[in-house]
Amino acid sequence: MTAKAPITPEAMPIPRKAPEAARQNLVGLTRDRLRAALIAAGTPEKQAKMREAQVWQWIYQKGVRDFAAMTNLAKEYRARLAEHFVIELPEIVSRNVSADGTRKYLVRIAGGHEVEVVYIPEDGRGTLCISSQVGCTLTCTFCHTGTQRLVRNLTAGEIVGQIMLARDDLGEWPEPGRAPKDETRLISNIVLMGMGEPLYNFEAVRDAMKIAMDGEGISLSRRRITLSTSGIVPEIGRTATEIGCMLAVSLHATTDELRNSLVPINRKYPLAQLFDALRAYPKLSNSERITFEYVMLKGVNDSDADARRLVKLIAGIPAKINLIPFNEWPGAPYQRSDWERIEAFADILYKAGYASPIRTPRGEDIMAACGQLKSATERARKTRFEIAAEAGLPQPERIVRRPNAPDVH
Ligand code: SAH
Ligand code: SF4
Repeated sequence: MTAKAPITPEAMPIPRKAPEAARQNLVGLTRDRLRAALIAAGTPEKQAKMREAQVWQWIYQKGVRDFAAMTNLAKEYRARLAEHFVIELPEIVSRNVSADGTRKYLVRIAGGHEVEVVYIPEDGRGTLCISSQVGCTLTCTFCHTGTQRLVRNLTAGEIVGQIMLARDDLGEWPEPGRAPKDETRLISNIVLMGMGEPLYNFEAVRDAMKIAMDGEGISLSRRRITLSTSGIVPEIGRTATEIGCMLAVSLHATTDELRNSLVPINRKYPLAQLFDALRAYPKLSNSERITFEYVMLKGVNDSDADARRLVKLIAGIPAKINLIPFNEWPGAPYQRSDWERIEAFADILYKAGYASPIRTPRGEDIMAACGQLKSATERARKTRFEIAAEAGLPQPERIVRRPNAPDVH
């Protein structure tokens, strides 16, 4: 397979120009920035630390959006805060619930752009899959998000705001005096596996995750947050040292030749460099393993030989392997591997000593599964012909569509 697509072909980065709001949004500010903002609004320096802690708890522990409800602050001070600040989340535009209980939210952020957020309930846990960018500049050929041309980084507030709005929707803010326990949480885990490459928006992702992990707020343990990257080598180590959450790497291929065409960033950071960075990854241990994600594409990367190469490649790295049956989307140039093939592949990994769960596709009926996310406004901009050409695949058969025919999804 020869891939000629540039790594970032026609992505159009749009400047992050939030409309000049008269009042500053407090959501997404780190503790230091929040304190500085309160001081700038006239809070005496001596009181700033305490006010910061109070406001922080109202916003992130109790889910309050209205300064008037912050009853442990003086009335005049609440009024002053309301003059200077707002507590605002992105807006939920639509909400789809799948037959299996998966919820997909389409969320509008400043500038009218849209991202998707997915909630996946499971026995004893609930995972929220959040986005870090509108679209993605990387053009992995099996990923629907990668076909979106419009790209912009989300702010920290827009990232942590996704967790907060899902909590609103699930009714998960604790009643006064009742701290949430990990076991009983509806949102017990966060995965940065929605739209975008989190390591291309490092600072905002870091600040948002620090807020989510803060013990006086949303209070999620760092071990319950997983950042998934396509392999942005220079930023990988920072995930451990500056965020401390778990790392997942989207591998998908065991040779540079194939990975170059599936995950084009591999041409910039080939396997040898990626694995050097992973072997040097801080905190690596048997209890803090790296997850390798591997999408199962029929006849492309799913042979026994691929499985054996995979075992060799990750030798020596405390790892688990997540096999993801390919989730199809309209115009996708690949097919999902057959179930028996996936099991045979998993068996080779298992015999080599690796946990290799096969991820059950969730929310497929509402296009909420991994790699299917793409904002509605951007859907279907690239044709399957363009995608096939970029992936170096044979051109698909032409389907003549009647004018006014219903959309395929
Ligand atoms: N950009 C990051 C995180 C978002 S993608 C990354 O690539 O890791 C989250 C996961 O979904 C990645 O492992 C990605 O490779 C996988 N994925 C993308 N498209 C998919 C599809 N159509 N079917 C199954 N998995 C897919
Ligand atoms: Fe971007 Fe990840 Fe999709 Fe690749 S798989 S295009 S890195 S979102």
